[in-house]
Amino acid sequence: MSALVTWLRAELDRVEQIARTAAIANGPTWTHNPEDRWLVEGKDRPVIYDEGSPTNEQARHIALWDPQTVLRRVAADRQILDEHQVDVRDRPSFVLNTGTVSCCSTCWGETWPCRTVRLLAEGYGWEEGL
Ligand SMILES: [Zn+2]
Repeated sequence: MSALVTWLRAELDRVEQIARTAAIANGPTWTHNPEDRWLVEGKDRPVIYDEGSPTNEQARHIALWDPQTVLRRVAADRQILDEHQVDVRDRPSFVLNTGTVSCCSTCWGETWPCRTVRLLAEGYGWEEGL
């Protein structure tokens, strides 16, 4: 497995764990109530409330990325990653003529990890050399 894919799977696990812990504490769905200004409501109580911060826009953002949303995003990204596995049939490298290369099982002709997997990893903060 490539370092990038190992890192991405660990990052998906980390983000999922943080979201699950927050969901246990405050419920999976957080809503922003603009009439109460900064209030972001969780299960039965405020997650964030008017202490002068965050701003209304920040509270809306926090509610948008509540645990339920993050868990749904992580699950979808895992499925995308699973669809872009290394093709077990290494193919000859016609371009470099250097033996075989590992290819994506979904993206025809792309080396693995493919662009889709690299973009997924970038979304979680992957930078070359990590
Ligand atoms: Zn692919």
